Amino acid sequence: MEKIKMTTPLVEMDGDEMTRVLWKWIKDELILPYIDLKSEYYDLGLEYRNQTDDKVTAESAEATKKYGVAVKCATITPNAARMTEYNLKEMWKSPNGTIRAILDGTVFRAPIIVKGIEPYVKTWKKPITIARHAYGDVYKATEMKVSKAGKAELVFTAEDGSETRELIHEFNGAGILQGQHNLNKSIESFARSCFNFALDTKQDLWFSSKDTISKKYDHTFKDIFQEIFDKEYADSFKEAGIEYFYTLIDDAVARVIRSEGGYIWACKNYDGDVMSDMVATAFGSLSMMTSVLVSPEGNYEYEAAHGTVQRHYYKHLKGEKTGTNPIATIFAWTGALRKRGELDGINALCVFADKMEKACITTIENGKMTNDLAIISTIENPTVLNSEDFIKAIRAAYEEL
Ligand code: NAP
Ligand code: MG
Repeated sequence: MEKIKMTTPLVEMDGDEMTRVLWKWIKDELILPYIDLKSEYYDLGLEYRNQTDDKVTAESAEATKKYGVAVKCATITPNAARMTEYNLKEMWKSPNGTIRAILDGTVFRAPIIVKGIEPYVKTWKKPITIARHAYGDVYKATEMKVSKAGKAELVFTAEDGSETRELIHEFNGAGILQGQHNLNKSIESFARSCFNFALDTKQDLWFSSKDTISKKYDHTFKDIFQEIFDKEYADSFKEAGIEYFYTLIDDAVARVIRSEGGYIWACKNYDGDVMSDMVATAFGSLSMMTSVLVSPEGNYEYEAAHGTVQRHYYKHLKGEKTGTNPIATIFAWTGALRKRGELDGINALCVFADKMEKACITTIENGKMTNDLAIISTIENPTVLNSEDFIKAIRAAYEEL
């Protein structure tokens, strides 16, 4: 059979530990036999990031801006233990953070739904995609503890020296304080990424905040979303038959639980942090969660939501077979290849992606899975496979479709 040809390279970002091992197996078994892969390869493994003073990470993000689509393997975010383990020159920043900052993007996380892995919420039938604003608020806050009576004020000093003040509180005794900020520019990018992704995936977009209590801060988020929607997106949403819907965060939470799924839920930074863990857990498994970074200009970086699965890697190094679930990483590849196909008008790539995803789902629904799924599956007596055998089973299912 002739392999599918590509015209534009895919930016390939390799990573660390067990997911780096899976990366190669996935490529060898499920991608290279079918696609004449054209990729621009960047090694984001920690060793090479350290060697290049982390320049490789920035270069891979720049390449994503140039070509438009990337696929990324999970990577280590260094901490004190990694400093010694990898003999690092510096505690390099999280690659995801660096790439997100360069692309000014928003991360969309969605679960992969299969029969036999049932969500804890009975009404959920379709994926719920969470979009988390990744700048500011409590994550860039300044805090203070006060130990005695006194007056706390919010002071803004303009460049011309003029001051604007708001009383925060007259303290009678000890207490705590926090100053948060956000930027219109960042909120605008967030809004555009969300509207673009909704159009792209033909799903309704929900956005929630607490504008009734936070009449300036949260209300600005609401206003910016509405302005951009009315000016730039209302017509295309109508054409696509989808809706933009704003509601209070507490109302959103109640609606989400009663819903069937099948929409995007855009959240402020903190809400997104908390709600993405809630939604991921309620759908069943982190190893079945996909993630895509979308920039306001329409550049895409696909990855799995989980980390490098360190514990499994140490077993692998000892020669043991592990049951690390490759599904989210396979879907990162199919997501990126499908997007490349759409942008370049290569339908065969889109057909390949659909078929490979179907092969993954069929394999699990036929009772073949890794242990993380077997322990939560409602399928009786599933066949528990190690990663290599599971990938081979997926290939066999693909060949049969
Ligand atoms: P992790 O790699 O997500 O794994 C945590 C645990 O979740 C695993 O030990 C495993 O549980 C289970 N798990 C996760 N993915 C799985 C899969 N595909 N198949 C089967 N089980 C899976 O998180 P971590 O161990 O806390 O972090 C390891 C490294 O990943 C860290 O250095 C961190 O910086 C990095 N990280 C990277 C990203 C990213 O690049 N996007 C995201 C998060 C973390 P059992 O051990 O019980 O089997
Ligand atoms: Mg969290």
